Amino acid sequence: MDHVVSSISTVQVGARFLRNVGRNSFRDHKGSGALETAYVVATSLGARGWGLPIGPGDPSVLIGRSVDSLIDPAAGVIAADAMFLDYALHDLAARILDVPVHVMLGAAASPQVRCYSGGIYFDDLDDGLPVIEQNLKQDSAFGFRDFKLKVGRGYRWMPAAAGLDRDIAVTRLTRDLYPDATIMVDANDGYSLNTLIHYLDAVADCDLYWLEEMFAERHEDLVFLREHLSRWPSRPLIADGEYSPNVDHILSLAREGLIDVALMDVVSHGLTAWRHTMPSLAAKASPHAWGLPLKTLYAAHLAAGLGNVDIIEGVPANTLGTVDDGYTLADGVLTLADRPGFGIDLA
Ligand SMILES: [Mg+2]
Repeated sequence: MDHVVSSISTVQVGARFLRNVGRNSFRDHKGSGALETAYVVATSLGARGWGLPIGPGDPSVLIGRSVDSLIDPAAGVIAADAMFLDYALHDLAARILDVPVHVMLGAAASPQVRCYSGGIYFDDLDDGLPVIEQNLKQDSAFGFRDFKLKVGRGYRWMPAAAGLDRDIAVTRLTRDLYPDATIMVDANDGYSLNTLIHYLDAVADCDLYWLEEMFAERHEDLVFLREHLSRWPSRPLIADGEYSPNVDHILSLAREGLIDVALMDVVSHGLTAWRHTMPSLAAKASPHAWGLPLKTLYAAHLAAGLGNVDIIEGVPANTLGTVDDGYTLADGVLTLADRPGFGIDLA
């Protein structure tokens, strides 16, 4: 690569949810979607790549530096002061090489990736239980076949017993309406162990696929949960590592068999970090991708490129500021476009 970084500019991209999205166990209404600032990196030879930053950084220090001093296509970003442009530099390098990012990552799995709707929030607290059925139907019409249900209504928004009853009702309703769906539940750390045991007893016949962040990932509590699940009729996976993770702790819990799916966020953990993490991860991965379809696109490239991901998080939304979403979604499967980079262009 003889390319030298000639300019770095910013652009606004975002998401427009299909509907206003309500609360989870501890956060207030999500609203209609957000705008984020992305970076566009251009080179002396006319190449261009763009992406969300994974943290703060100073773009001015990168002007005049060669692209191959910033990123190694075989490993990821190699300059610490360029790491915040992890996604933009992966997009740029793959465009220069004229391959999709997932191919540059190793094409370890199919570019068709199972993708669930992560958009079933507590909208019933605003509009009543029937809205859950409407939302499931809307996400199903959008192309999803599998659903993650937010639970933990009794953590702060409802009295504890009534909140648990509603969580159970939403879970049973979803299973009744979609007998073939993969169903995940996510309490955003809003359950106590006691609440979780009551919940599990009430939904034992619902064949849950994974339990996500039911409580904060304390070793002793995960041991207790694992023992309880060993006597349970089905064996849902235990997923954790999204919220403010201590990555070493998550990796250690995975090695002990206490976490089955590691959820570190696709953007805040970063693609280069995931490339380092994945080969030694003693669990499956499903990088957290809620908020923007762009994050789902990144997670799909990561899944197709690195493998070890069975299903990714989708957002019932369309991308703002781009020509499309960079993928198609049909029958529960996300298909990546066969285009260089992340395969998505700014509008
Ligand atoms: Mg979550």
